[in-house]
Amino acid sequence: MPSSEFQLIEHHFSHLGAIREDVLLGVGDDCALLQVPKGKVLAVSLDTLVEGVHFLPGVDPESLGHKSLAVNLSDLAAMGAEPAWATLALTLPRVDEAWIEAFCRGFAQLANRYRLQLVGGDTTRGPLAISVQVHGFVEAGQALRRDGARSGDLIYVSGTLGDAGLALQAAAGEYDPGPYRTELQARLDRPQPRIEPALALRHLASAAIDLSDGLLADLGHVCQRSACGARLELSSIPLSPALDRFIQEQGDWGVPLASGDDYELCLVVPRGRQAEFERIAAGQETPFSRVGEIEPAPGIRCYDAAGKPVQIGRGGYDHFGPT
Ligand code: ADP
Ligand code: MG
Repeated sequence: MPSSEFQLIEHHFSHLGAIREDVLLGVGDDCALLQVPKGKVLAVSLDTLVEGVHFLPGVDPESLGHKSLAVNLSDLAAMGAEPAWATLALTLPRVDEAWIEAFCRGFAQLANRYRLQLVGGDTTRGPLAISVQVHGFVEAGQALRRDGARSGDLIYVSGTLGDAGLALQAAAGEYDPGPYRTELQARLDRPQPRIEPALALRHLASAAIDLSDGLLADLGHVCQRSACGARLELSSIPLSPALDRFIQEQGDWGVPLASGDDYELCLVVPRGRQAEFERIAAGQETPFSRVGEIEPAPGIRCYDAAGKPVQIGRGGYDHFGPT
């Protein structure tokens, strides 16, 4: 069993994830040495998960290992970038070997699936917090930015929306999801980064973002950066059976549209590429739904099946916003 910090790092972190030829030097020196392929640029993103803010105390460490990498991979997907490397900063209240082992297992499963190698990090003592930085590659000029949407473009989202948000309500005892409890919890604990469809569809999209704070907030970022607005058709928002039941019972569209942690993709597609986009999207494991379109006027407007405007009570999650 490792005792020193050095042994802890050597034992748990020095061989985590894929073994890549573009890693000239990985964990163990003062810096990692990494080779970016010719013609590609590096896409870099960092996310932090803090106990009590992003996850509940006592959460399953394997799920936490998965989620801390998954939320970062989701950012690479939203940029149209292919995963390559990660660094990991772990702040731990104490050395709990079984906990670290399980965390690494969850992290490694996802890293292996996307051929990502852990190349460095930092390990400190303190209140439990996890920062992961991911590095991916994208052809120069091909990245999916937030500022590329144009009026008339179509808006697509992957998967289903609101499941993680409803899982949080269920965990807080505010909603009884009945038979759907386990599958909702899995959506919260084990988000699946949409890397494959992002890479297959990126050449057809004009803009993209991943849904970490809810569609209204995240699409709002795209609209703001692209100096436009959007309309959403509520009847087209993809819902799981659990969310479908919830909406029928409570009619609260704030859950699918304004709660966080879905980590689905939102892709904006010019009309001229609609047919090609839908053809390739149909071949993906994750379904895509067309939920609205970009309009010139700023703001996001929602309509029901009868074409009537619907007000949604809340925006997305904002750490520093009013509580
Ligand atoms: P330094 O004092 O030079 O920053 P550290 O003792 O922090 O070195 O880390 C030693 C090596 O172990 C470095 O290569 C660092 O990247 C790596 N490392 C430390 N913690 C982690 C971690 N949690 N995950 C991956 N690599 C880590
Ligand atoms: Mg260090």
